[in-house]
Amino acid sequence: MMSQPPDPTSYPPVADAYARPLKSLRLSVTDRCNLRCNYCMPEEEYGWLPRDTILSFEEITALTGLFTELGVDKVRLTGGEPLLRRDLHSLIRMLRRNPLIQELALTTNGLLLPEQAPALKEAGLDRITVSLDTLRPDRFKALTRRDGHEKVLEGIEATRSAGFTGLKLDTVAIRGFNDDELIDLIEYGKRVSAEVRFIEYMDVGGATGWSMAKVLSRDAMLEAVGRWYGGVEPLHEQSSAPAQRYRLADGTTIGIIASTTAPFCATCDRSRLTADGLWYLCLYGKEGIDLREPLRRGVSPLEMKSLIKIGWQRRRDRGAEERKALERLGLREEQLIEIRQLRLDPHLEMHARGG
Ligand code: SAM
Ligand code: SF4
Ligand code: SF4
Repeated sequence: MMSQPPDPTSYPPVADAYARPLKSLRLSVTDRCNLRCNYCMPEEEYGWLPRDTILSFEEITALTGLFTELGVDKVRLTGGEPLLRRDLHSLIRMLRRNPLIQELALTTNGLLLPEQAPALKEAGLDRITVSLDTLRPDRFKALTRRDGHEKVLEGIEATRSAGFTGLKLDTVAIRGFNDDELIDLIEYGKRVSAEVRFIEYMDVGGATGWSMAKVLSRDAMLEAVGRWYGGVEPLHEQSSAPAQRYRLADGTTIGIIASTTAPFCATCDRSRLTADGLWYLCLYGKEGIDLREPLRRGVSPLEMKSLIKIGWQRRRDRGAEERKALERLGLREEQLIEIRQLRLDPHLEMHARGG
């Protein structure tokens, strides 16, 4: 008799202390990156996670399997730059065998997509999000301290040629840097059949140069976009996705992720596993739960699952809301993590824990 795939509904998600389900898992597959975006990796030198601590594809797949049996059904590969992890397509193929994963996605800076897009598609990746902050090569270079803008645009084309649909372009909107490009980016998105999502600049991890003055708020974005297109209306969707979506008067849809001015912690079902197996329950979380150590010690799958379950059930994180509360007291900018501290614990960096 053929064995039936497990019924996803047979694994009701575990809920945290605020009844938020464990649903979405971001896997940071490497802490390394081929860019140095100044809102993420502003330093010249970085200490990398030791190689022998990096989880193998087998370990990532095994851990992800346990997470899916506790409710996770969306998995996103991120980093660092995930396409720097050698043979990433093999990991995708391994994860794809898990029928409980309803959506397998990737966030990338796009540089290596021209070579890798066909293999990613063939391995079974569902969707790609490319980070694209500017259409101007000179600005790209100033922001990332590297060349390669053309490659990113080529990468976007390559996803289309490889047959990916539902492409998203994520733009961190920064006042005084790319606030004059919102319309150009939306128009570019239309040309390449991609939905553009603007992310408010966040005071996370390595964003040591962050200040409230550089945050282009959702309200300011809507005002600028609405003025140009002659109207913008919110779409009413039932979703725990971080982006609020809007329809412009010409029918185009865009998303805005207002993590800084209008946090959505109340519905947050996301957690992150670093490349070396630390599990973070919040983007702003100071400490992760070490899953690598018990996994390598040979702890049984049942015990591992219990560790994950208890971890999630105790979760009370509302990092972005707490920052917002401090902002009202005028204390937000004092919360930025100092370089000294980032050097002591690289896991505090966004590029280590995955955006
Ligand atoms: N390297 C890949 C990339 O850039 O797409 C994946 C990892 S990156 C950490 C994931 C996302 O986090 C990117 O879209 C990036 O723009 C975003 N990000 C990093 N630092 C940020 C910050 N300070 N504020 C808002 N978004 C940030
Ligand atoms: Fe930029 Fe992504 Fe690299 Fe951070 S991890 S420096 S956002 S490309
Ligand atoms: Fe979720 Fe933490 Fe982000 Fe809030 S700050 S949405 S709890 S990851």
